[in-house]
Amino acid sequence: MATIPEHEPFIQSIRKEWYGGKVAAVDMLRLDVVHKVVSGNKWYKLKHNIENCLTGGYKHIFTFGGGYSNHLVATAAAANMFGLRSTGIIRGDYSNDRLTPTLKSCMDYGMDLRFVTREEYNQKNDDAWLEELTKNYGGAYIVPEGGANEDGRKGAEDIGKMIPEGYTHIAVSVGTGTTLAGICNAVGNEVTIYGYASMKGGAYLQDELRSYIKPEMQGSYTIFDNWHFGGFGRSNDELIRFMNEFYEINDIPLDVVYTGKMMYGLLQQINEGVFDASVRIMTVHTGGLQGNVSIQDKLLYNNL
Ligand SMILES: *Cc1c(COP(=O)(O)O)cnc(C)c1O
Repeated sequence: MATIPEHEPFIQSIRKEWYGGKVAAVDMLRLDVVHKVVSGNKWYKLKHNIENCLTGGYKHIFTFGGGYSNHLVATAAAANMFGLRSTGIIRGDYSNDRLTPTLKSCMDYGMDLRFVTREEYNQKNDDAWLEELTKNYGGAYIVPEGGANEDGRKGAEDIGKMIPEGYTHIAVSVGTGTTLAGICNAVGNEVTIYGYASMKGGAYLQDELRSYIKPEMQGSYTIFDNWHFGGFGRSNDELIRFMNEFYEINDIPLDVVYTGKMMYGLLQQINEGVFDASVRIMTVHTGGLQGNVSIQDKLLYNNL
């Protein structure tokens, strides 16, 4: 499939000044450059799903998310690019003047939005409800919330394959954990994977993901939920100050929903002596910069 990535991912060194030379190396895999909207991990999770639509003759993608979901807007944009129609089932009523920038952007890419109550939304994996939702659309293809399916994990393995040998740790932010699972399945168990959940209570995913991760990696990943900053989509001045400082030192824009929180947590761990001086850490920039629109006036950079 042609059009995406617009730019190839690359590896950039994080400056020693940022981590105080307390470990041997911190590098970053820049997936954020792949595409402005179908950015970072989202393209990898979507690509096999889109491929299935095209080869299977599906014309219409249904997917799910909240008002700030990067997955929704990435799906809207990708569907648009590949000539597919899309419908987003949205948790909560954001109709009319309550549309978030993310949802506006979904509509700009031609996605139909259907607002449902939390109770209805909770049926998102219920076959009968899905059939009812899609019955008038003839051959609708359903991608679960966050792109969290087998094809999503398979696509995320490509991210793991981009990471050269020689790293002792990989750090990645976590929503559904689909990306983390794909990376785990693509690397050897000499590597430790640290996942940083961007929502409250995300450590439950440690067990939830187990069945999707290959046996030899079962003991090699840990999900932390200490750095949610009040919950999914929440932030505070300290996080934004940190992101601005990271940008000034490294010239890399972080997003406020995921990668800002991950790098904050990682730096705290480095400073607390969690890592030996010999470790080499690969951090994964999973993109998501479109989500910065809500705090744009406080940022020193604008990558929207
Ligand atoms: C969606 C997203 C994630 C979470 O990915 P999962 O595979 O759901 O864990 C992480 N980072 C960014 C920037 C995202 O947009």
